[in-house]
Amino acid sequence: MKKYSNLKKVELHCHLDGSLSPTKVSKWTRKDIKTVEKSLIVKKPLDLQAYLEHFNYAINLLQTKTRLKEAAFELCKDMLHENVIYAEIRFDPVAHTKKGLTLKEIVESVLEGISSSNLKAKLILCMKRERDTEVNKSVIDIAKKYLKKGVAAVDLAGSEENYPTNLFKDLFTYAKEQEVPFVIHAGEAGTFKDIEDAINFGAKRIGHGVKAIKDFRTMETLKQKDIPLEVCLTSNIMTKTYDNFKEHPVRRLIDSGISVTINTDNRTLSYTTLTDEYNLLNKHFGFSTKEFNEMNKIAIKHAFLTDREKEELLKNFS
Ligand SMILES: [Zn+2]
Repeated sequence: MKKYSNLKKVELHCHLDGSLSPTKVSKWTRKDIKTVEKSLIVKKPLDLQAYLEHFNYAINLLQTKTRLKEAAFELCKDMLHENVIYAEIRFDPVAHTKKGLTLKEIVESVLEGISSSNLKAKLILCMKRERDTEVNKSVIDIAKKYLKKGVAAVDLAGSEENYPTNLFKDLFTYAKEQEVPFVIHAGEAGTFKDIEDAINFGAKRIGHGVKAIKDFRTMETLKQKDIPLEVCLTSNIMTKTYDNFKEHPVRRLIDSGISVTINTDNRTLSYTTLTDEYNLLNKHFGFSTKEFNEMNKIAIKHAFLTDREKEELLKNFS
């Protein structure tokens, strides 16, 4: 058994379509597991755009209610297997409308998959930078409908380089008007300015946010406002955000006092688990069990949970 697999864990940044079970996909497609893995897993680092294209294979498989439900259930099972006690799972519902499913059917199917597992988990619905505002607004609308029924928030994903965060002021003004909380992928392929914009819009957490390290003021703002980063180490290597682990700023970010949580981003696509991430953090940066527990407490503090739910989960780390 791998080191840290028994450690209790919380995950706040994991994409459903990037985390499909190869065994399940092999059953769906009747293809052998090796062939399936070739399509699902990114074996060597790619630039973010090429990496994101790998999502398409998974997305095309997830166009029915049954498959969406099964995919969510399997992901929860994988998480439980490595002692995840709470997760926020995200996905882009609009991507699953290709064969006529409605957003309502899509969200309900994934929620059903989660609730048929034993994992305590909530959903974050992703909007895409590449999409029209009206389509993105429909994601905010469906999130609002399912708030407190399993959906926790919305997110913005997609190409930061081509669609910088400052373009989305009106979208997040709308989310605020609708009282739908949000997180934003920012400062991954983009710059620290994307992080500042995301903070100014009112993001509760920053997806990745590693580029904060480039700007002292951004780092100060993250600390002052106590906005955590959802760091995904392996993913940043696979998308060439950093050439190697040593260059990754995770240690420097934490030592500066910024709140950091550890996440997989895409378990299958990046061929990792939370346990693997902990092992890599231990190997390359010397992180200890005590520090992992602290990061899990930070994750709970900033999760979309009630105070009572947080108190209950925190008991696992006392
Ligand atoms: Zn992500």
